[in-house]
Formats: sequence, C-alpha cells, structure tokens
Amino acid sequence: MYGAVKDQLAATLREIEEAGLYKREREITTPQAAHVGTTAGESLNFCANNYLGLADHPDVVAASRDALDTWGFGMASVRFICGTQTQHTALEERLAQFLGTEASILFPSCFDANGGVFEVLFGAEDAIVSDELNHASIIDGIRLSKAARYRYRNADTADLRTQLTAAREAGARRVCVVTDGVFSMDGSYAPLDEICDLADEFEAMVLVDDSHAVGFVGEGGRGTPERFGVADRVDVLTGTLGKALGGASGGYVASHREVVDLLRQRARPYLFSNSVAPGTVAGSLAALDLVASSSDGREALERNAALFRGLMDDAGFDLLPGSHPIVPVMFPGDDGARQATDIADHMLGQGVYVIAFSYPVVPKGKARIRVQLSAAHTEDDVRRCVDAFVAARDAVG
Ligand SMILES: *Cc1c(COP(=O)(O)O)cnc(C)c1O
Repeated sequence: MYGAVKDQLAATLREIEEAGLYKREREITTPQAAHVGTTAGESLNFCANNYLGLADHPDVVAASRDALDTWGFGMASVRFICGTQTQHTALEERLAQFLGTEASILFPSCFDANGGVFEVLFGAEDAIVSDELNHASIIDGIRLSKAARYRYRNADTADLRTQLTAAREAGARRVCVVTDGVFSMDGSYAPLDEICDLADEFEAMVLVDDSHAVGFVGEGGRGTPERFGVADRVDVLTGTLGKALGGASGGYVASHREVVDLLRQRARPYLFSNSVAPGTVAGSLAALDLVASSSDGREALERNAALFRGLMDDAGFDLLPGSHPIVPVMFPGDDGARQATDIADHMLGQGVYVIAFSYPVVPKGKARIRVQLSAAHTEDDVRRCVDAFVAARDAVG
C-alpha cells in the first residue's frame, strides 16, 4: 500500500528542490568525447572523467565490438558459478602487471570494490584510519566493516599521526590508513610518501583509491603511488575502469596475493553481483594496451592542464593550485554559490559545458566550478573554455 508514502516522498522532493539541491540530468546525444551534442546544442565538454579521451577511441570501440561476436553480450552469472571467461582472468593479470601488484580482482564497479574490501580484511579487533575527504564508497565500505573508525583532517599528516597513535593505544590488531590518491573536488594529491612513512612507523597497512589517477598520473600512468615513489609500499589499491581507462564500468582491487584470494572467497559485491560484461572487459584491455604502450595521451593531458591553469591565472581567476587535470575555479564568500552557478549556466549557453559545485558537496563559502581537462581537447578547445569564462564573468559580474 503506497498510501501516505506518496505525499511523504513528494514532500522530501520539494525540500530538495527548495534547498536548490535538485539534480537535473542533461542528456547527451552523442558518444562521450571532448565535443558532445546535448539537447541544448553542441558543446565543448569540460566535466567528464574522460582524462585520456579513450571513451570513444577507435581501438577501444573496435575491441569491444569484436568481443560481442567472440564473447557474446552478457555473462548471466557471477564469477564463481559460470561468469569467468578467459579474458576476465587476462584483464586481472594485466591490471596486476600494470600496477605492479601480485594480483588483482575485478568488481562490477569501484564503488563495489570499496564496498567489499573493508569487511573482508578488517573486523572488530581492527582500526581503519580514513581521510575526511574520502569518496562516498570508501565511507560506506568502512561502515560495513566492524572495525573501529578514526578520521583525520584532509591530507593532514600531523592529524594522521594523532589518529594512528589513538588506534594503537586502543590496542587494535590490524591498522589501515585509507585515502583517495586524488581528491576529486580539489584536484589535490594525498601525500603518499609521508603517509607510507607514518604507516611504517605504526605498522599500519595503506589502502589507496586511485580512481582519479590510474592511467595518467605518474611517469608510466600507474597512478599516485608511482608519482610519489611508493608503488611497493602501498598494500591495497582500488580503482575504476570507468574514468581514464575507457570510461565504461568496472572496478578492481590490486594487492598482495592473499588479499586478492580472500576477497575472491568473501567479498560480497564480488560474490553476489554479475560478472563484468564481455564487451567492457575487451574494451578495458584495449584501453590498458594504449595506456601502457604510449605516453602521448598523458603528455597531451598534462599540456592541456598546464595551459588551462596558466591562462586562467593570467585572466585573474582564483584557482586551487596544483597540476592535476581537475582544476577548481573558486568563487569564495557568501555570494560564491550564485556566481559559480550563473557563470556555469552562461558558459553552457555559449557551448562550454562545466559544472558548478556548492554546499553541501563542498564546504560553505568554497563554491567552485570544477573543470576537467582531457587529452582529447585541442589547444583551441582549452582557449575557448578560458574565453568563455572571461565572457561569462563580464556578463554575470
Ligand atoms: C569515481 C570514483 C569511484 C566510483 O567508481 P565507479 O567504478 O564508477 O563505481 C570510487 N572512488 C573514487 C575515488 C572515485 O573517484
């Protein structure tokens, strides 16, 4: 009986709307790319996680298309019943090889990888020490384990030391430091070298979710551990195939052999959810080939991010400093949320697609437009984006 629930839900929806938090989905009428069609017309796209431009890359699309003929459309099974094809195992081996770990295990998504990993590895005797800005899926995954929880201020190693001390004083058996490699609202890096030093001092494990880095951060695209020179000191890596690595879907945990073996036995989102679709597996393998065989994409992405940051600085915009292709353009103060929204709306009207974020997604007074560069952008695309920012600022004031 739906009954009174209808009115209650409608009231909640109204509250969301009145708080200005209602999310409306803009429809794209083309493949995901640097230039997309939208129902509002053609648009330059600066808000996808398509960092290397592989979402519509011909090699990736061809591999996925061929896989439909070779491997079929779907698996209709979880992995351990009859959902493991040769190529699923091949992708796990390739990921482990690429990331320099002993083994890896695929999940339907990185959300599921994070949802499954903590409960398996950490019980009531253990402690998890987590960065306050970690992704929602890490927060949920930690909640699903019975471990004691400690939270440290974003990338603050002094506070991390305090929390590790507290965890050890409470007598925890296993202790694990958990962090995003890159924080998605700020485009900032976790200080993994210092985190690994502290973890050694406190005999703690380190888990890094490298979703916004794998494929393009670090000399070989192996992510933040490579960038910070600690690839052999991070114990557990989680990440997504849904961003730089082709952008379809799927996630993974890459780690020591025993960790992966135990996850295969016990991780609930792995055991009780369907196997990654054959076309997605084949496309992801092709994406990994591209990432491993050439640094062209990474270099183009780096050039675009540096060009955008430089031009925006020159134009007098307030950027969070850094080098990552996530570039937050800040609109501080009480009026910032409105300014950011008005500017993003004006830019969309000019055919440049960017998104404004304000409270509660980011702290009060720290509204921003988050720009995401891609290797698929041309220099002209980047310049058009900057010009659109300037024109919007002039128009909106
Ligand atoms: C995008 C993202 C995820 C979710 O990845 P999916 O594969 O889309 O579920 C998890 N963690 C972080 C840090 C992310 O940025």
